[in-house]
Amino acid sequence: MDVTASSLSPRRKTRQISVGKVKVGGDAPISIQSMTTTKTANVDATLEQIYSLAAAGADIVRCTCNEQEAAEGLAQIVPRSPVPIVADIHFHVEMALAALEAGVDGLRLNPGNLRKPEEIKLVAREAKDRGVPIRIGVNAGSLHPDIYEKFGGATPEALVESARIELAYFQEVGFDDVKISVKASSVATMIAAYRLASETFDYPLHLGVTEAGPLPGGLLKGTAGIATLLAEGIGDTLRYSLTADPVEEANAGRMLLETLGLRERKGLDLIACPSCGRSEVDVIKIANEAQAALSELNIPIQVAVMGCVVNGPGEARHADLGIAAGKKRGHLFIRGEIIRVVKEDEMVEALVEEAKKIAEEGVEARLAARDTSAAAEAEADRATLLDLKGADANNAQAKIENIRRRTEN
Ligand code: SF4
Repeated sequence: MDVTASSLSPRRKTRQISVGKVKVGGDAPISIQSMTTTKTANVDATLEQIYSLAAAGADIVRCTCNEQEAAEGLAQIVPRSPVPIVADIHFHVEMALAALEAGVDGLRLNPGNLRKPEEIKLVAREAKDRGVPIRIGVNAGSLHPDIYEKFGGATPEALVESARIELAYFQEVGFDDVKISVKASSVATMIAAYRLASETFDYPLHLGVTEAGPLPGGLLKGTAGIATLLAEGIGDTLRYSLTADPVEEANAGRMLLETLGLRERKGLDLIACPSCGRSEVDVIKIANEAQAALSELNIPIQVAVMGCVVNGPGEARHADLGIAAGKKRGHLFIRGEIIRVVKEDEMVEALVEEAKKIAEEGVEARLAARDTSAAAEAEADRATLLDLKGADANNAQAKIENIRRRTEN
């Protein structure tokens, strides 16, 4: 059964704000964010990274604004960026004001680091005048010491309380163009904090597991936290925080939303069998080669790489296109129907060629153009493989007999 957005809990209703041209919250699509790792003052390098992030699926990009040169860089980056730019602010109120002057589409304030109420209200007033939203970006690692002490640590309640206090300052000056994040590096804490935030506020929530670390652990932590909340209908925008090229963050965000049926697939979805005793080829090698070659096509297609023709086409019958190995040959199939037989060393090439044709002509046309003798060839290979390896690739019958012999002795 396909897992689609309709199988998830209904999305919790939040207010809607606009970060530049991107709407966040309400019924807006869940957006993907990432953050540049370049010096913001290095305008060309930062723009190059922003373009890469946008190409990978990022809808909004954040840049640090930690010094005057960074703010000056933002003034040049914002008008040339393909996506809205948010300035990340810690400690210095002047940098928040300078970022607003630079024309950014949003600010992120860390309440744990920018603490003086008058400064917070000054930024909120200025943001209000310019129509610029602010993310209250609470982070378990930099919680205000008073709150930390009051709650005995960076508990979910402490994180939400930090956001509530910041929000109260904003409300004093009539500013509510806000989204909220309550990130922690502990997945369990982060999940509990966002659940509580979702019950407490109706502002859009920006999801993330902070300092998740390098791949693959960081990816797993981010996915465990973000996907759990999305499945519960919580979250309006997200960022993976990976110790990696930020393009990996954008890719991960896009792939997660596509996987959950929350974003239309723009690129490849490669599925592959884990391989087993029946496998006729090196599935890992072929799957990796196919992934590399097909990703470049930017075609929204699901492609299967299966280790044997005995079970492959049937197990992957929902895939748009696939290949299954058998007797030194590749059996190319569309929606489970064998359409062509190719040499083993041409399997990846054949997949790429057929994927392009499907994109141009459509699935039905390619099924109609199939080689009518291919199905019979596949069936013959299947029968031979069954003969060779038996219906039972694990040799279960022989093992059962061994077990019986041992237990009888
Ligand atoms: S039976 Fe065939 S398709 Fe299924 S895991 Fe084994 S090799 Fe792959």
